Amino acid sequence: MPGLVTLTDEQEAVVAAVREFVEREVIPVADELEHRDEFPTKIVEGMKELGLFGLTVPEEYGGAGLDLVTYALAGVELSRGWMSLSGILNTHFMAVYLLKRHGSDEQRQRWLPRMATGELRAALSMSEPGAGSDVQAIQCRAVRDGDDYVVDGTKMWVTNGLRAGLVVLLCKTDPQADPPHKGMSLLFVEKEPEARTFEGITIPPNIEKMGYHGVETTELVFEGHRVPVANLLGAEGDGFRQVMDGIEVGRVNVAARAVGLATRAFEEAIRYAQERTAFGRPIAQHQMIQEKLADMGTRLEAARLMLLHAASAKAAGARSDLEAGMAKYFCTEACHRIVTDALRVHGGYGYSTEFTIERLYRDAPFLLIGEGTSEIQKIVIARQLLERYKVEG
Ligand SMILES: Cc1cc2nc3c(=O)[nH]c(=O)nc-3n(C[C@H](O)[C@H](O)[C@H](O)COP(=O)(O)OP(=O)(O)OC[C@H]3O[C@@H](n4cnc5c(N)ncnc54)[C@H](O)[C@@H]3O)c2cc1C
Repeated sequence: MPGLVTLTDEQEAVVAAVREFVEREVIPVADELEHRDEFPTKIVEGMKELGLFGLTVPEEYGGAGLDLVTYALAGVELSRGWMSLSGILNTHFMAVYLLKRHGSDEQRQRWLPRMATGELRAALSMSEPGAGSDVQAIQCRAVRDGDDYVVDGTKMWVTNGLRAGLVVLLCKTDPQADPPHKGMSLLFVEKEPEARTFEGITIPPNIEKMGYHGVETTELVFEGHRVPVANLLGAEGDGFRQVMDGIEVGRVNVAARAVGLATRAFEEAIRYAQERTAFGRPIAQHQMIQEKLADMGTRLEAARLMLLHAASAKAAGARSDLEAGMAKYFCTEACHRIVTDALRVHGGYGYSTEFTIERLYRDAPFLLIGEGTSEIQKIVIARQLLERYKVEG
């Protein structure tokens, strides 16, 4: 669908390349791989060749050095094919962002070149069994011992948790800190990809999910795992601020996934509506179906514009919790609504695993939850609005 925002030639070229890749390599196999919950090894190799893992890694470290808008657009195209592909990239990309913004030269040298090629892939781990939205309530601890931290605790919902060689871990280096966020730090944990046990880290069987298949989501259990002090990002106590900075990028990515998923749902519905007949004519000629199509198309266009606005704000380096929060909230809710309407347009066939819409319908709810639920976005949005529109006196 044409948009109102003009893209640069470079952005157009990336979008075209990813779209072509998705049409050729992803769409023909995505439904089948998703139903089997199979990791898309061949597709990921193709993503490496396309340079997607290094899209935002600076050129000096072997990446393409492109901006967040380009990354978001690539995320839209990938998710139009299969949302899980964007999930494979997202935590990796957040780790790249955190290293670029807060890492030391030595840390960037150590990890970014291998991250640019996709040889080294990253996960980002904040959530725990007892704490998701309430990030400051995490229990995972890192205690200094000589030149190492000793890490103990259980993390939950780690996407890419098994295959990642690098885990950006949010933990408490000072559990007594008041307020708690002042005692939180980010450690880059290096581990053996695909190993279920590794030097005090245990990864239980992958969490079984309703959708978001193909990419694994795991627990990570730390028992006396040692992380060199050199793997601390910035200083002790910086972790909460850093992760909140990174999560704005993650929220833009989730908004991008929502736009991609919704685009596909819209395309599936508008095609089906013209093919399926009822009462002697294509259902697209019935006004109540047209109402759905109009509503879906309008929401989709609005979502796309909000995504580009939020991505541009963050790419410009502005504090953008408001824009990222609004985009995440609006795009994911719009996506959920569009996917639900697209399912209705398909009638009974929408409920059949033979049709792609069934997969999209199971994937969409995750977007309402990951990188902060809609309720949390609304809290962030309202807080910012009340600051901007503060009544003095
Ligand atoms: C498939 C999947 C993949 C994930 N991948 C990752 C990952 O890679 N890394 C990672 O760190 N995490 C990941 N997560 C975790 C995700 O970020 C959390 O699930 C999410 O932040 C919500 O936390 P929670 O599940 O603990 O829900 P809770 O925080 O327990 O919330 C439960 C409900 O209460 C509401 N609620 C909570 N607090 C408030 C409040 N103050 N006001 C109003 N309502 C409130 C919530 O909106 C929600 O509706 C993933 C989750 C899923 C499902």
